[in-house]
Amino acid sequence: MSDSLIAPQSQSSSSAVRFEDFGLSPDILRALSDQGYVNPTPIQAQAIPIVLQGRDVMGAAQTGTGKTAGFSLPIIQLLLAHANTSASPARHPVRALILTPTRELADQVADNVKAYSRHTPVRATVVFGGVDMAPQTAALRGGVEIVIATPGRLLDHVQQKTVNLSQTQILVMDEADRMLDMGFLPDLQRIINLLPKERQNLMFSATFSPEIKKLANSFLRNPVTIEVARSNATADNVTQVLYKVEEEAKRDAVAHIIRERNLKQVIVFSNTKIGASRLSRHLEKDGIKASAIHGDKTQGERMAALEAFKQGPVEVLVATDVAARGLDIAELPCVINYDLPYNAEDYVHRIGRTGRAGASGDAISLYSDKDARLLADIEKLIKQKITRLELTGFVPARGERRPRHDDHEDRPAPSRSAYGRGSHTSHPPRKEKVDPWFLKPYEPAPPSPQSEEPLDGHPAKPAKQKVAALLGGGPKR
Ligand code: AMP
Repeated sequence: MSDSLIAPQSQSSSSAVRFEDFGLSPDILRALSDQGYVNPTPIQAQAIPIVLQGRDVMGAAQTGTGKTAGFSLPIIQLLLAHANTSASPARHPVRALILTPTRELADQVADNVKAYSRHTPVRATVVFGGVDMAPQTAALRGGVEIVIATPGRLLDHVQQKTVNLSQTQILVMDEADRMLDMGFLPDLQRIINLLPKERQNLMFSATFSPEIKKLANSFLRNPVTIEVARSNATADNVTQVLYKVEEEAKRDAVAHIIRERNLKQVIVFSNTKIGASRLSRHLEKDGIKASAIHGDKTQGERMAALEAFKQGPVEVLVATDVAARGLDIAELPCVINYDLPYNAEDYVHRIGRTGRAGASGDAISLYSDKDARLLADIEKLIKQKITRLELTGFVPARGERRPRHDDHEDRPAPSRSAYGRGSHTSHPPRKEKVDPWFLKPYEPAPPSPQSEEPLDGHPAKPAKQKVAALLGGGPKR
C-alpha cells in the first residue's frame, strides 16, 4: 500500500525537531506559541513535512499523540497560498474537508484548527447534526476554506446546496476505524464522489485493521504510512491494574476507588447508557460530583457536562464508548472501567484517554467471574497481562447490593462483522438499539424523501455492494 514506512516511535515530544524547522508561517508559529507548544510530537514531526509535500498519508495514530495538529498545521500552511481577506464568499471556497465520526471530535478538531489559524486569513467552520442548521448555513455561505464535519450533516448541507465541495483539494478522514465501525461507509462514498479526483488524502486511524487497509487502498494514492505506536499497543506511560469485584458491588467499588485515591478528574466507562446514568446517580448519592454522558443526552447536555468536567465542578464523567470517543481532555490522570468493554479494541481507546501527550496515567478496571473471556480477549490484544490487585479496605455497603440488569442494550454491534472479520464471540448478545446521536447513516433533514440513488447516478445497491465498491471493488483512480 505504501512506498515508505516510518518506524514507530515513542510518544514523547521530540526535542531534536522544532516547529520552526518545517517552514511554517510566522502566523502559525505564533499560534503554536499561544498554545504553549514547544516541540512537535513524533507524529507531528513525521506528518508535517510529508503533508506539506502534498503527499497522501495513512497515519496509524492513537488519540493523545497530537495527530490533530499533525494534519491541521500543514493544511493551514498549504491553504495560505490561497488566503485572502476578500469579503466575497466566492473567494473562500472549501479547500479542505476534515471528516470525523462524532460531533464531539468534530467540535474539538474545529477548536484546534481555529486556534492554529487564528492569526491567518484562513477560515474554518464545523458542521454536525443535532443542532440547528441555520448558523452552520450562514457560516458556510460566508465562505470558509476548511470545513470540519460529521458525514450525515455534511450531506444535509450538500443536499440543501449550502456547501460546495467541487474545489476541495484536501480530504482528511479522522478516526477512520470508528467511521467504519459506525456504519458511515456509504456516506463516505457519497462524499468522496462529490470531491475533485485530483486531491490530497490523509487518513488517520487508531487501529490498522485489514478493513482500514482496504479503505486506504481504495482512495489513497501512493501514501506514506506514518505510525507512532504499534496498532493496539497501549501507551507505556499508563499504569494498568485490575480489581476483582462482585458484579453487584461494582458501583460501591467505583465510589471507594474515587475516594481512596482522591480522584478529582476521572472518566468511568460503562457499556450501556442506562448503566452510565445509574452509576452517575449512585455516585452523586455518595457525595461524588458525577455526570453521565451518552447518546440519550442532548448535544447541549453533553457539551454542558463536558464543560463542567473540564472546569472542575464535575469530577467524574461516566461515559459510554461512543460518547467518550474523541474527547480531548488534557492530562486526565485516571480512567476506570466499570464494565470491561465487549470489544477489546475499545479497551485500548478507553485507556488512551489517560497518559496523553506523554503524561502518566492510571487505568483501573473492575472485573468479575463473568468477565473472564472479555479479559482474556483484552490481554491477548494488548499482549500483556494486566496486574491484579486487591481492593484493600473495601466493604460493599450492606443493603446497597442490587442486581445489575442495566447491561447490553446500547452498544451497537460493530459493523466490522459485516466485512467478514472474525469477531470475538465472548460477549453477550447485543440488542441492536442504535445510538441515535452518532450511528445514523445519512438521512436527509428535510421532510422530502431522499432518493436512495447514490450521488454518482447509479441505482441504489444493497449496502454490502456499496461497501465492496469503496473497499476496492470500484474503479481505481
Ligand atoms: P490529539 O492527539 O490531536 O487529540 O492531541 C492530544 C493533546 O495533545 C491535545 O490536548 C493537544 O492540544 C496536545 N498537543 C498537541 N500537540 C502538542 C505539542 N506539540 N505539544 C504539547 N501538546 C500538544
